[in-house]
Amino acid sequence: MDDCLFCRIVRGEIPSTKVADSATCLAFRDIAPKAPVHVLVIPRTHYDSANDVSDAAVVGEMVLLAKEVARAERILDAGYRMVINTGVDGGQTVGHLHLHVLGGRGLKWPPG
Ligand code: AMP
Repeated sequence: MDDCLFCRIVRGEIPSTKVADSATCLAFRDIAPKAPVHVLVIPRTHYDSANDVSDAAVVGEMVLLAKEVARAERILDAGYRMVINTGVDGGQTVGHLHLHVLGGRGLKWPPG
């Protein structure tokens, strides 16, 4: 996906602040954080959204890296939230599958 924003971040064409990575996934800070810790975990391979992925390993690897992010950000024990916005009603604005890791303060539920 030549012009996909997050594919361009994976390729290093657009700068990002890396927090962690793995063979299959990359984690970097959200440019407009909604919480003291706000990191995005993405697969290096392009998927439009959660609707587009059928390989359970991809999702599993994202969750495992999210846990590493929580450990690195020292919120593992306090708790945190993982969110995958999907489609228009889900609030997805970037068309490359991504998982938000949010924490560093108490998060209200439901988010609204
Ligand atoms: P979503 O609304 O679930 O699609 O989330 C997309 C997220 O990407 C938003 O929280 C944006 O702030 C974030 N975002 C957009 N552009 C960038 C960028 N260049 N670097 C880091 N995060 C970004």
